[in-house]
Amino acid sequence: MGLDFKRTMANLNYLIEERKRRNKKLIISLTVAANPINKSNVDSLIKKWSPKVDDIGINWIHSWAGAMEDDGGKTEISGSRYPCRSLFEQVVVQSNGDIPLCCVDYEGSLVGGNIKTDKILTSFYSKRLEKVRRDHLGGRVGNNKMCNNCRFSEKGLDWLV
Ligand code: SF4
Repeated sequence: MGLDFKRTMANLNYLIEERKRRNKKLIISLTVAANPINKSNVDSLIKKWSPKVDDIGINWIHSWAGAMEDDGGKTEISGSRYPCRSLFEQVVVQSNGDIPLCCVDYEGSLVGGNIKTDKILTSFYSKRLEKVRRDHLGGRVGNNKMCNNCRFSEKGLDWLV
């Protein structure tokens, strides 16, 4: 991301210390983009940071719904499809105010509304986005081209844990 690693770590440690010093209930979550290069460090990373932060999310890199190759040079999805939790849990707002389908929809190919003109929840529950949710719940994930190429609806791990 072009950040200075040492400075980023120092800032994170400072935040953790300040939270403790001020006795604040700030929740600190780390997210790691796991990939073939750093995967051997994931266990030690969890061991190091889990006593200090509230949550650590390990996300294996993905193909952005087939927009690029994944770590194995593939864009294909295999295995059973399940409803994508992003559709139900995340309200994404783009820099222009659009509320798209999800964080993977970085170009806003399916937009439910815009925060400059619409209420956030009206956009989130718009007919366009609700149709995709109904398709997912009805086992028709592939009706949406982007979802059809996306790992987030693959195998249903999110619904098991
Ligand atoms: S399956 Fe992928 S593209 Fe479809 S809603 Fe989920 S994250 Fe977005």
